[in-house]
Amino acid sequence: MLTQPTPASIPADLVPDSRIATYDVVIVGGGIVGLTLACGLRGSGLKVAVLESSPRGSAARRSQAYAFSLTSARIFRGLGLWDQVRPQVEPFHHIRLSDCDWPDVVTFEPADAGEEEDLGYVAEHMVLMEALQGAVEAAPDVHWIGPAIAQNVTYKEDWAYIAVKPGNDTVEVPSQVRAKLVIGADGSRSPLRTGADITTSGWKYWQSCIVTVVRPEKHHNNTAFERFQTSGPFAILPLRNTCRVVWTAPHEEAEAMMKLEDQEFLQELSQRFGDQLGSLELVSDRRLFPVQLMQSKRYVAPRLALVGEAAHNCHPVGGQGLNLGIRDGAALAEVLVAACQRGDDLGAVETLRPYDRQRRWGNLLILGFTDILDRVFSNQWLPVMAVRRLGLFAMQRVAPIKQIAIRVMTGKWGRVPQLVPPEANSET
Ligand SMILES: Cc1cc2nc3c(=O)[nH]c(=O)nc-3n(C[C@H](O)[C@H](O)[C@H](O)COP(=O)(O)OP(=O)(O)OC[C@H]3O[C@@H](n4cnc5c(N)ncnc54)[C@H](O)[C@@H]3O)c2cc1C
Repeated sequence: MLTQPTPASIPADLVPDSRIATYDVVIVGGGIVGLTLACGLRGSGLKVAVLESSPRGSAARRSQAYAFSLTSARIFRGLGLWDQVRPQVEPFHHIRLSDCDWPDVVTFEPADAGEEEDLGYVAEHMVLMEALQGAVEAAPDVHWIGPAIAQNVTYKEDWAYIAVKPGNDTVEVPSQVRAKLVIGADGSRSPLRTGADITTSGWKYWQSCIVTVVRPEKHHNNTAFERFQTSGPFAILPLRNTCRVVWTAPHEEAEAMMKLEDQEFLQELSQRFGDQLGSLELVSDRRLFPVQLMQSKRYVAPRLALVGEAAHNCHPVGGQGLNLGIRDGAALAEVLVAACQRGDDLGAVETLRPYDRQRRWGNLLILGFTDILDRVFSNQWLPVMAVRRLGLFAMQRVAPIKQIAIRVMTGKWGRVPQLVPPEANSET
């Protein structure tokens, strides 16, 4: 039960300060992106809270898996989490890019990206969340407030005040929290973004995305496939002895596929999957996701910064979305740790501007790249088909073109945030 109930409707400045839990940074949203940022702030001298509406266990239990880039792996290494995560993720050593049944397939090997072994990983939501949640739990300077819902935020000159509602009847959480800086890591609908009147631009795609898991007859040989079909991109990601399929198709086609009986669906799927891995067995439900492109006009405002899907959404082609969010979290952590060392006001727009500049433009580049990829490869106009096939031909044979493409796909482009490992932090 709540010991000191404070109705959310009471203006924050009427609540006595002693009843307000006070932090330097409050992160609203304890998903992978919010927790990456929280981990990056451990040992920095900042007092941090993570406010999450779902119970810890159910936030971790989502049956989702992601293409996890080399750069995300590097960030997790910087956070001291990679040794725990690496044995539980599936590496891919080869990528095959193809245009329908066109024979010119582009193949990428680790050497193309300057790597010895891996080109990326497939990581389950639960694996990433357990590592991040464990690290946050063990950090004395990061408090978990939850399950608790951030209801509204009042921005004053020196503080942001958050009205908090418990996520269930049994949990005891502060009714008001204040911080020098509030982070919106609260997903694509982001109540924090809309509450701060930050506008967005973008569009909903004509496509939806079906996600399912199949067990192929032959081993996937740790290969990730991106097959561009006339209806949209079709990705196959290796995961233990199964493959995760991310199938993008126009809404009507996707909805029709969702309604098919398992055997009929498998038949349709097999046609698109191709026969390179033998026959397929369906081993999970199918799930349908809407697909949109969204970019916030600003990532920062006085006493507010946005990260992850609160700031941007992109087309699932190339599996970039979460990786961009992880990079946001690491970049913002770097900016805040430096600001703390200088004694700057964490919530001042001037303090946050380097994060906004770096990540808004970097993310826009990838949003544009995924959009162009989807449009060019879904286009059946002959001149466009000819140009893209020429592009694939060149990519396979001209090393610099291939290297640019693989750097974008693996996240090895632009400035990578330098996170200080927590061991080094605690020594200072
Ligand atoms: C079909 C599909 C396939 C994808 N595949 C890939 C892939 O292969 N690789 C990849 O990198 N990305 C992929 N993505 C993108 C990826 O799923 C997202 O980018 C990522 O999950 C976003 O993480 P997030 O932490 O920003 O948001 P979320 O995971 O949505 O987390 C937001 C958190 O905020 C909490 N919250 C919300 N409001 C409040 C509130 N008021 N108070 C308290 N808490 C609140 C929520 O409970 C939630 O835990 C894919 C997306 C789709 C749709």
